[in-house]
Amino acid sequence: METKISSRMFEMAKKVIPGGVNSPVRACKSVGCEPVFIQKAKGSHIYDVDGNEYLDFVCSWGPMIHGHANEEIMDAVTDAVKDGTSFGAPTTKEMALASMVVEAVPSIEKVRFVNSGTEATMSAVRLARGFTGKDVIVKFDGCYHGHADSFLIKAGSGVITLGIPGSPGVPEDIVKNTISIPYNNEDLLEKTLRERGAEIACVIVEPVAGNMGCVAPSATFLARLRELTEELNIVLIFDEVITGFRLAYGGAQEHFGIMPDLTCLGKIIGGGLPVGAYGGRADIMDQIAPDGPVYQAGTLSGNPLAMAAGIANLRLLQRPDFYKELNEKAEFLADGLKKAAESAGIPVTLNRVGSLMTGFFTEGPVTDFESAMGSDADRYAVHYRQMLSKGINLAPSQFEVAFVSSAHTMDELKTVVEMTEWSFKKLA
Ligand SMILES: *Cc1c(COP(=O)(O)O)cnc(C)c1O
Repeated sequence: METKISSRMFEMAKKVIPGGVNSPVRACKSVGCEPVFIQKAKGSHIYDVDGNEYLDFVCSWGPMIHGHANEEIMDAVTDAVKDGTSFGAPTTKEMALASMVVEAVPSIEKVRFVNSGTEATMSAVRLARGFTGKDVIVKFDGCYHGHADSFLIKAGSGVITLGIPGSPGVPEDIVKNTISIPYNNEDLLEKTLRERGAEIACVIVEPVAGNMGCVAPSATFLARLRELTEELNIVLIFDEVITGFRLAYGGAQEHFGIMPDLTCLGKIIGGGLPVGAYGGRADIMDQIAPDGPVYQAGTLSGNPLAMAAGIANLRLLQRPDFYKELNEKAEFLADGLKKAAESAGIPVTLNRVGSLMTGFFTEGPVTDFESAMGSDADRYAVHYRQMLSKGINLAPSQFEVAFVSSAHTMDELKTVVEMTEWSFKKLA
């Protein structure tokens, strides 16, 4: 596979962009190769600037649940662009998408649009603090909630991938208000919340963790979290930036039947354009300016192109059996990967919830950050490069999920299983 043009582009990019990339994991450092530069994408495939074609399981890290360059979404955006790209004033499209979100997500009564998942989580935490008058937040090791200061403690995603504990530039004064505890540990959760409940504004959680690889909540974890936060007057925030509109149309909260107070959305809600959102109980949301004192604003928030893409994306999700079919595809792939590992005789723990999955190179089980870190990331790196050489684009990190989209066909998934068998045998 020739990647000459990508290599040259990367050299040039590194001169003008830190690391040559606008988000760290894209640099492919942890898998020991250089990134390819993408020219275009269609359906389940992406194409690089050297003309190579790849079957894509990154799916822009989640948003492309219908595959790339979906016709309906492209039409919605091209129609919208003709009317202008930003007004800084209310539009009908914002109202339409907000109504769809309120209808879709069980616990959301009101919603505010922002431009990224990071903005959504940052604003939700500010709101929880403003609402409760308390300062401390609780998060879980290995969960990622965007790159705002308060969250960069034992965070997932690129923070784990690059093996950095937190980040310079985050003042101690801010970090002292964040408590990070292990995922799925109900005893420690209860102890922490009971001891410090009077100072704790909120608990923020990925209801299925997707940024230390895919880690499911135990059967009782989320219910216990809901009980305790309710009892102790702590705002419960579900960060559904990945799980929203993916595990079900109403997200993880619909899937598990557990209602948070606030929910953060991103990724799928924008259909591939930059959108985030946070919403929840009306009495809490009414604390936001201009109705309330908690300030949050955005020049491009509710952008008409992004709203048009989001509306089209959500409409496609309303098709009958959409989630059933998507999950069946994911299940087929996960079963194939498990069998491939067994027949090659290498330890792989396959975690899957709906259409999110990660094959961890470890005996397992993987239930939290510590057990995820027990994976052989070097072995993953070799697997990643072997798969890429066969035209299959996996996440360039052991600690990310593979995203299955409705554009992946059963034949394509069969090919991936065969390629995985080949790759695992070479690893054995
Ligand atoms: C991606 C992600 C974010 C951050 O969203 P950005 O749009 O990258 O700022 C926050 N939380 C979770 C769970 C995510 O996966």
